Amino acid sequence: MNFAHILGHDHQKEQLKQAWKSRRLAHAYLFTGADGIGKKLMAVALSKLIFCDQHSGCGTCTACRRLEHNNHPDFYLLEPDGTQIKIDQVRHVQQELSHPPISAPLRVCIIDNAERLNAAASNALLKTLEEPRPNTLIILISAHYEQLLDTIKSRCQQLPFARLKQQTVADIITAHNHSDDNTECNSLQKNSNQANIIAALAAGSLKKALSSNQEFFFEQRYNTLNAINTLNPNSVVPMLELAEKLANDKDRLEDLIWILLSYYRDIFLIINRASPTLLTNIDMLQQVQHQAANETPISIQHKLSAIIECQFQITRNVNPQLAIEVLLIRLTKQLQETVSLTNRKTQIKTF
Ligand SMILES: [Zn+2]
Repeated sequence: MNFAHILGHDHQKEQLKQAWKSRRLAHAYLFTGADGIGKKLMAVALSKLIFCDQHSGCGTCTACRRLEHNNHPDFYLLEPDGTQIKIDQVRHVQQELSHPPISAPLRVCIIDNAERLNAAASNALLKTLEEPRPNTLIILISAHYEQLLDTIKSRCQQLPFARLKQQTVADIITAHNHSDDNTECNSLQKNSNQANIIAALAAGSLKKALSSNQEFFFEQRYNTLNAINTLNPNSVVPMLELAEKLANDKDRLEDLIWILLSYYRDIFLIINRASPTLLTNIDMLQQVQHQAANETPISIQHKLSAIIECQFQITRNVNPQLAIEVLLIRLTKQLQETVSLTNRKTQIKTF
C-alpha cells in the first residue's frame, strides 16, 4: 500500500509528498476525519515514502516490507491497549524517539485513535510535541477531533480528510465482490443496488463498507426501523427497553444514527416528490412511501432535527441511553401528532 493505492484525498497526498520532497515536513501532524476513510493508510504511505530504499515508497524493497510488517526499527504504531492509550505506551515511544534513527532518515510514530489517549498519556505526549526531537515525525490520527486536548491540537499541523464519495465506495464494493481472490464475498453484495445502499449507509467509510457491518446494515436496519415504527407513544416500557438495547451496542451507535438519518431523509424526499432514484433505502420503498403518507413536511423536519441532535449529543459523550430514549420519545410523539392530524383531516373530509 502506497500513495497510488489510496483513493481520493489528492490534495493531502500532494501536500505531504511535496513537504517531504522539500524537507518541510512538520514535526507532528494530526489527521482528522471520519473512521475508515484512509487516514491511517495515508500515514503509512508517507512513512513508506520516507523509509523506502528506492525513495519512492515502492512497497517491495526491504525497508518498505519491514514497515508493512510493522517491524522496522524506526517505525512505531501506537494503538489503544484495551480502550485507552496509556502513559506507559507513550513513555516507551518517547524513549525510542530520543535516539537517532537506526536506518531511516526519520523515526516515525503513528498514534491511531489518538482520542483514546488518557489524561496522563496526553500530558506526557504534550511534552514531546512541545519540545520535538530532531529527525522525528509524529502522526496522530483521530475520527473524534473534539475529544482531543486543545493543547495537543494546537501543537500539530492539522490535516482534515473528507468522507469518500458514495459512488466511489459503491464502485469499490462492486469490484471487491467480483474479485477472484475475495473469499469473504458476502451474498448481500450481489448487485449494484445493494452496493449503493451499503455505500450510503457507510457514510463514506470504506472500512465500514467492506466490513461485517453489511449484515448490520441490512438485517438490523429492518429490525430496528420496524421496532421503532411499531412503538406506541402511550406505552413507555417498550420504548425504554428498546432504547436500552440500542444504547448497549455502543460501537454501532454511529451506524444506527446513519440508518435513521437515511430512512427519514428518504421519507422527506418522498414527501417532496423527489425521484425514487435519490433514495438510499430503495429496497424498502413501499415502507418508506407508507410512512411518508402519515407525515407532513413539518413533522419529518422535526424528526430529522431530533436525530441530528441525538447524533451531536452522542459525540459529546452524553449518556447514550438517555439520548436514545429522548430520541424515541420525540419520534413517536410526533408520529402520534401526525396520525391525529391525519385522522382530523379524514374526519373533515368525511363531513
Ligand atoms: Zn521501497
